Amino acid sequence: MIRFESVTKRYPDGTVAVDGLDLVAPSGQITVFVGPSGCGKTTSLRMINRMIEPTSGTIWLDDQDTGAVNAATLRRGIGYVIQHAGLFPHRTIVDNIATVPYLLGQDKKQARARALELMERVGLSTTFAKRYPAQLSGGQQQRVGVARALAADPPVMLMDEPFSAVDPVVRAELQDEFLRLQAELGKTIIFVTHDIDEAVKLGDQVAVLKVGGTLGQLAPPSVLLND
Ligand code: ADP
Ligand code: ADP
Repeated sequence: MIRFESVTKRYPDGTVAVDGLDLVAPSGQITVFVGPSGCGKTTSLRMINRMIEPTSGTIWLDDQDTGAVNAATLRRGIGYVIQHAGLFPHRTIVDNIATVPYLLGQDKKQARARALELMERVGLSTTFAKRYPAQLSGGQQQRVGVARALAADPPVMLMDEPFSAVDPVVRAELQDEFLRLQAELGKTIIFVTHDIDEAVKLGDQVAVLKVGGTLGQLAPPSVLLND
């Protein structure tokens, strides 16, 4: 479970990006943060893994105050996926994915085997293993990004518009596969999007944020559709 308790972020220039946010993202579920550009979605997400520090308030990960643990330790349990997969351009696909297990102490052979298994998991043919990121389509690169985030088997995944940079047909495929994978893995996921259709399709619950960084509504998608 991730819990925001009166969380506020004021940037040094005085912008209040998040204003007294209170919400709970239950374990094993997908919580979507949706809302217009500038409403504080990315800021909220990045406070969870302490890429951004809250100005006040507390973010709890289960019963742990995230502000009280070492950020590197915290991030070991938190996968992170962004819009442009952020792959290492000079490493092959298999090595991009294997980097995390390797850093976690698996030997190279084990780490590569795990990477190949993850490629299959995210629906990416292992024939791409020895290619470089630039040789893959945008949708394929996003699959690699998801595989890499899953490599450490983190209980929590933070996903910031991971499917927004690809065309609508590929996006729908990625969404469907993501839901299949989540049905199997049951991670605790925070998923950021500005697309209400995507929010309704993917969310177990949807947090609608408003400009100024406040919470408009927190509800299952069925409730939002009936409003
Ligand atoms: P969203 O992800 O919903 O588009 P952000 O969290 O990126 O929103 O931004 C929320 C608000 O904070 C916006 O007004 C944005 O301009 C502002 N903001 C974001 N990053 C910074 C920063 N580093 N310094 C000052 N203001 C920022
Ligand atoms: P954007 O492209 O959205 O601007 P950034 O450049 O701010 O993203 O990304 C911050 C960096 O932190 C990225 O290079 C990302 O790869 C790295 N990173 C990777 N894993 C994590 C993690 N678990 N927690 C925080 N940062 C991470």
